[in-house]
Amino acid sequence: MKLKKIACVMLSGIVFCGFASSCKIKKAEDVIDSDSSSVEVDGSDETEESQLYYDIGDEVETEDFTFCVNSIKNFHDADYFYVVCDVTYTNNTDASVYVSIGDSISGYLDNQKAIEQNYVDYPWVVDNNLLFRSVSINPGRSYNGLIVYLSYKEWSRVEVQCGDVIVVAEINDTEYVELYPNATETTVTSETETTATTPTATPTPEPVVPTETTIGYIVDIQSRTFHVPFCDELMNVPVENQIIIEGNHSSMIAEEYVPCGICGS
Ligand SMILES: [Zn+2]
Repeated sequence: MKLKKIACVMLSGIVFCGFASSCKIKKAEDVIDSDSSSVEVDGSDETEESQLYYDIGDEVETEDFTFCVNSIKNFHDADYFYVVCDVTYTNNTDASVYVSIGDSISGYLDNQKAIEQNYVDYPWVVDNNLLFRSVSINPGRSYNGLIVYLSYKEWSRVEVQCGDVIVVAEINDTEYVELYPNATETTVTSETETTATTPTATPTPEPVVPTETTIGYIVDIQSRTFHVPFCDELMNVPVENQIIIEGNHSSMIAEEYVPCGICGS
């Protein structure tokens, strides 16, 4: 298989790359063989493992796809460690391809297969609403999103593999993020500036989770049925018919979505 480094994908740049601030934009003429960051390998005849490893931000083109891990972030809560990979996949074939998480694209933490999360209950991930779901991608089109891996213990090295392409990063190459960035700040700035510095302003922030919990429901756009993220019934709903809508039970009913009979959403 012929692998070579190319300039940042134009299609993804138009539609998807806006938030991928770390995505490298290179003009074609900038990519030359002498450039230490450019890669041109022939992996089929003389397979040297080192030729198949890439860094965050590398755009790697194969005959079938172009793959880029734009960034990797990490955070943890009391129970789990999370790794959030921002990836872009471009279908270079002339047919639609089905790209699935855990199969087409899989992750390893310290050489152990990572557990993928198709839903993460943390605002900065949900707000981005960018989770990379298993998806069918048309010829020439790009698909971009976040893949969230979970670990039960601390980790030091992450690999994201797409076909023969393996993107490797040490934890120091990834960005640690807070679970609720600027949560206090945001609350305070909605108040007056003078109360911002008083200690009494912080003990009563706006609760992040209201009384009726707001979550990202998975909605079947065909039937308008909404499900909790881990509902088994979703196995029977084509991925392309699934969208995430944030809300609570009442707001979903108000929007005329139909609760699922299985999960009792
Ligand atoms: Zn359900």
